[in-house]
Amino acid sequence: MVQPRLDSLSQRPPVPAKVAESPTLLTELPPADRIESLLMRLEQCFGIPQQAPDRLSPRPDLLDELVGAILSQNTTDANSSRAFRTLKAAFPSWEVVLAADPADLAQVIRPGGLAHLKAARIQEILAAIQERQGSLSLDFLRDLDDAGALDFLLSLKGVGLKTATCVLLFGLGRDLCPVDTHVHRVANRLGLVRAKHPDDTFAQLSPQIPRGKAYSLHVNLIRLGKRICKTRMPECGRCPLRPTCPSGRQR
Ligand code: SF4
Repeated sequence: MVQPRLDSLSQRPPVPAKVAESPTLLTELPPADRIESLLMRLEQCFGIPQQAPDRLSPRPDLLDELVGAILSQNTTDANSSRAFRTLKAAFPSWEVVLAADPADLAQVIRPGGLAHLKAARIQEILAAIQERQGSLSLDFLRDLDDAGALDFLLSLKGVGLKTATCVLLFGLGRDLCPVDTHVHRVANRLGLVRAKHPDDTFAQLSPQIPRGKAYSLHVNLIRLGKRICKTRMPECGRCPLRPTCPSGRQR
């Protein structure tokens, strides 16, 4: 697996003032123009994503973000949201979650699926944070740069690159594009990357993203992936990106 080159993120290209529309395949554009062209088309089709005001200032609790991301693994947004709501309603603090009977915790988060596995994972993560930081808080991540914050999160058992980058994007507003199954699939079909694993897609995609545009790219690639570029039956015939998509032209 290719390791993400976070040092290259600070050298990402600025957002261009304007990119000419072109039916040229993305893969035939100069590398520097590919993502700009894609961003423009996605924002024309799906809008410019904005973080909800209540998530901008103050930023949400980072442990909430991390546990929410764990609960979101291998389930739908609706189910993970339900599991998180029941968790927060049942336990008044993360200290109480850590001390809870694992079976009770699993019962509470059952709506999110894989309840026993996720309950164990959550308690292991909380225990590790408590032991290493002396308290159940991730606020210290706010003082770290992207690479430092990712290093810490990835050192926690059960926290992968997608989960860690979600915490940094949604919890800290960092300019990173988490690569989930949708982003991975669509980026490969569009020819932006050639990667078998989402972490390799992250490594190849991140340096291409103009500064300040990771959130927009992440949200809109997921919208495209969920609504049109589906896993088994991509609806290329109604896809606004088809003229520029090497996979779409072959279908
Ligand atoms: S043209 Fe087809 S393969 Fe390409 S992005 Fe659209 S739906 Fe996906």
